[in-house]
Amino acid sequence: MAVTDKIYVKNHRQIASQLGTRFPKGAFSGATLDVLFQGDLSELNEATQEKVLEFATDFLDCGCDSNPYCGHPERKFIRYLLDLRAQDLDPESMVSVMTDDYMVYAYPGDLYSFLDNSVRTLEAVEDLAEVDGNREAAERATEQKRELTR
Ligand SMILES: [Zn+2]
Repeated sequence: MAVTDKIYVKNHRQIASQLGTRFPKGAFSGATLDVLFQGDLSELNEATQEKVLEFATDFLDCGCDSNPYCGHPERKFIRYLLDLRAQDLDPESMVSVMTDDYMVYAYPGDLYSFLDNSVRTLEAVEDLAEVDGNREAAERATEQKRELTR
C-alpha cells in the first residue's frame, strides 16, 4: 500500500457533517478528492476551507485530463514528504507540519516505514546505476539517501 493511502483528513467527521455528505477518511481516496476538491466548500468554516484549497492548489494543479486521478497528486505529496524529511524533521514533526499546512495527518509509524522503503529504493537505484556505470545517477541517489537518513 502506498503511503498516500495512509494520509487521512483531519477532523473528518466534522467536515463531513458541515458538508452534509459522506466520504472516506483517506485524503487521496477518489471519493474524498471528488467531494473536497470539486464539491461546494462554502459550508466549511474559513480555516478549513483555506487548508483544503491550499491542498488542491499544491497537489491537484496539473493539467491532465484525468486529474485528480492521474497519479500526479500522489507523486507530488510524496515529494512533499521527502522535502519535509530533507528539512530534518522526524515523522512526528512531519505529521504536525502536514496538519498545519493541509489539515491531513498520518501515523508516524507509517511514515517511518515509508522513509525506510525510500532508502531501500534509493540503495537499489544506486546499485543499478553503478552496475550501468551511470555515475551521475548513482551520486544523485547517494545524495538523496543522505538527506533521508541524516
Ligand atoms: Zn496529472
